[in-house]
Amino acid sequence: MIFRQLFERESSTYTYLIGCEQTREAALIDTVKEEVPKYLQLLEELDLTLAYALDTHTHADHITGAGDLRDATGCTTLLGENANSVCVSHPLRDGDEIHIGTLTLTALFTPGHTDDSYSFVLKHQDQTYAFTGDTLLIRGTGRTDFQNGNAADQYHSLFDRLLQLPEDTLVYPAHDYKGWMLSTIGEEKAHNPRLQVRDLPAYVQLMNNLKLPNPKMMDVAVPANRRCGQALEQH
Ligand code: FE
Repeated sequence: MIFRQLFERESSTYTYLIGCEQTREAALIDTVKEEVPKYLQLLEELDLTLAYALDTHTHADHITGAGDLRDATGCTTLLGENANSVCVSHPLRDGDEIHIGTLTLTALFTPGHTDDSYSFVLKHQDQTYAFTGDTLLIRGTGRTDFQNGNAADQYHSLFDRLLQLPEDTLVYPAHDYKGWMLSTIGEEKAHNPRLQVRDLPAYVQLMNNLKLPNPKMMDVAVPANRRCGQALEQH
């Protein structure tokens, strides 16, 4: 497997490149529009063909590169079916499998941060990788106070789904603001302060009292991301 964790500084976004060594097919998870030239360069340098550009959810803090990547490479773009995207190639459903050559990503519906949040799970050579979007962050969880977010849904996505993965599952989130790059399910269970709650009502209360400001780009990014990060076509 070819694997790269890429970082975009403005929005502190992690983008993941996953490639199959045998077929040279690749996927990019959570791309940023401004970084598309860099992704195209890296794909060429690593001799990879982009098969998929997928997003874990409709982002509020940056514009996706998915549409531009599809124009440049002919790749398929994927986003959860609840996103109401007018441009995505295929809407994702829980349990969908995405084949990248010999590798398989499984889509897990993990709503809560948004109502269209998905995580992606990959098993390779006895190791499980979880790309958790903004559902499970390192020592945090994604806010649930806008974009049809719901703290109770997130509680179930965390405790009933992601935390049920093997303890040694590698956790790769969509963002980090403090320089954390990688964790495991076991490490987050033990040390993530948001996961130390007693029960569902305690989690909902915690999440509903965060009082965070809206992201700077929210008004621009959300509508743009419903169009795969591209301007409306003029007719
Ligand atoms: Fe987000």
